[in-house]
Amino acid sequence: MRGTPLTPLGAMAELERLLRVHRRPAHAPADAIEFAKDYVEVCRDVSLEQFRQGVTEYLRGPGRFFPKPGEVRALALEQPGAGSVGDVGAFATWLQNGYRATPEGALSACPVCGQDWEWAPRMKIIHRHVTHRALGLPCLGACDELRCLGPGIRSAPVSTVPIDDTAAERAAIQGEGA
Ligand SMILES: [Zn+2]
Ligand SMILES: [Zn+2]
Repeated sequence: MRGTPLTPLGAMAELERLLRVHRRPAHAPADAIEFAKDYVEVCRDVSLEQFRQGVTEYLRGPGRFFPKPGEVRALALEQPGAGSVGDVGAFATWLQNGYRATPEGALSACPVCGQDWEWAPRMKIIHRHVTHRALGLPCLGACDELRCLGPGIRSAPVSTVPIDDTAAERAAIQGEGA
């Protein structure tokens, strides 16, 4: 969990954001706090910040109905939450320490995008490309953007998705002409 523990009051404020867009489930408890408690119960392992970011992601997505607690949790778990996320200085320290916040510590999540280590199939971090590029930093190994041409990144597959990287664009155009 990265951030403040989720409380029913905190969850209630976020559910209200969803209620502005989605119809309240007919079988939901009438009391707003009781309704929020159902979400807190399921989302025990996510922080308030992650819950908030997860709700924002849900609102940005194609979801047509009021999300179930498990749906918010799944999205929230993917969110960076609070902490040193986006901190360029912390990124330099993290690299210096061999992907650790402190030299003696365990491998820790990326301080730029908040992504943590996972087995896929070996230990690695799948960085959030948009966050890294917004700060002008490389993705280092793997990221969630298939066309990423950063150092050591997986090769770019053929795609019709528009790209914002001019170098990649030039390479693609040259490839087509050959
Ligand atoms: Zn990262
Ligand atoms: Zn990338």
